[in-house]
Amino acid sequence: MESHSGYRGRLAPSPTGWLHAGHARTFWVAAQRAAQQGGTLILRNEDLDPQRCRPEFVSAMLEDLRWLGIAWSEGPDCGGPYGPYSQSERRAHYLAAWKALRDAGAIYPCTCSRKDLAQAAAAPNDADDEPIYPGQCRSRSDAAQFAEPVGVNWRFRVPDSKGEEVSFTDLHLGPQRFLAGRDFGDFVVWRRDDVPAYQLAVVVDDAAMQITEVVRGADLLKSTARQILLCRALGIPIPAYFHCDLVRDQAGVRLAKRHDALSIRHLRELGWRPEQVLELS
Ligand code: GLU
Repeated sequence: MESHSGYRGRLAPSPTGWLHAGHARTFWVAAQRAAQQGGTLILRNEDLDPQRCRPEFVSAMLEDLRWLGIAWSEGPDCGGPYGPYSQSERRAHYLAAWKALRDAGAIYPCTCSRKDLAQAAAAPNDADDEPIYPGQCRSRSDAAQFAEPVGVNWRFRVPDSKGEEVSFTDLHLGPQRFLAGRDFGDFVVWRRDDVPAYQLAVVVDDAAMQITEVVRGADLLKSTARQILLCRALGIPIPAYFHCDLVRDQAGVRLAKRHDALSIRHLRELGWRPEQVLELS
């Protein structure tokens, strides 16, 4: 796929389970948008969390996407100028961003113990989004004493005045507006077990890979607001956003990787064709 424009889009699956019909739809839209604009499509393997990601899901997701008829020209399987394309190999990039944020006073160490911290490496959706942090560690001023992030959680300090607005125009869903401090609080950018959080990794990678448009599910709208704040703090460009409608099951529940019956893999085994999987969604 030779690029004829500056458009650079990405597919960013996480190898934590089988991809399902909802992913198929979102990735199909991403591929179509890149193709329509004569752009380049990148595949990034979001295998940040060693506890949740499994190598067999990496090969399965690449294979399922190819089976759907989606092609990318940069990725872990084919290389490219902005590699490596697996997040587990990109620590140096995240660490540089962590240092920049620490030096700017934009993040602080947090020793509060919370169950939700375990989830910070995963992209949150509405149901499992992290609760608003009450702020016990906010006034800590010892960030500069940390040479490395490991050992404490690191939180991004959202703008102080309660109610600071983060707005953007989504290319599919139109104008979006979130209030920092109300819709989300000081979010985790690095976990104490030394795993960078999804929010930080995705912003760093989208900038490093020169992504111009992010296409993903509407469950990540609120994450986009957080990511815009991170882009501003890091002084990196904010891409355009296109959030796809979510695919729901017959009971109206958003599809998740636990819906194994609607996994692309399972439908393939039942003899479904790619068009049928895409029509489901
Ligand atoms: N890896 C994330 C997920 O599978 C998506 C990240 C994104 O598109 O920003 O939910």
